[in-house]
Amino acid sequence: MARLKICVASGCEDFAVPGLSHCERHEAARQDKLKARRAKAQTSEAAVMARILYADPKWKAARLAFLRHHPLCVDCGELGVIEAATDVDHITPHKGDRKLFWDSSNWQALCHRCHSRKTAREVFHG
Ligand SMILES: [Zn+2]
Ligand SMILES: [Zn+2]
Repeated sequence: MARLKICVASGCEDFAVPGLSHCERHEAARQDKLKARRAKAQTSEAAVMARILYADPKWKAARLAFLRHHPLCVDCGELGVIEAATDVDHITPHKGDRKLFWDSSNWQALCHRCHSRKTAREVFHG
């Protein structure tokens, strides 16, 4: 049987949801906060600008050409894993900055999994 833990929210004495560190009430509040932050990231000026940049047909062509020259995921490669790259990632997040976006020395080839992991980190930690 799983041991019950107490919710980590300060002052809360409810049991945590098994496998999580918060009680049901605080877990729901935490999810709401995350959702709000995610929604904000989607509508910020930088996100709007990024959408415009990514929609550029020139980017699609540049991306394909880059992946032809860099067919393997660099993150997986560092771990000795050979994984086909599917995404072009900006090493320094461009945040909608056109110059940084188009600077190919700031590009790296990543597989989809590595790219979403990195993107998620950037959304939550700036
Ligand atoms: Zn709680
Ligand atoms: Zn990878």
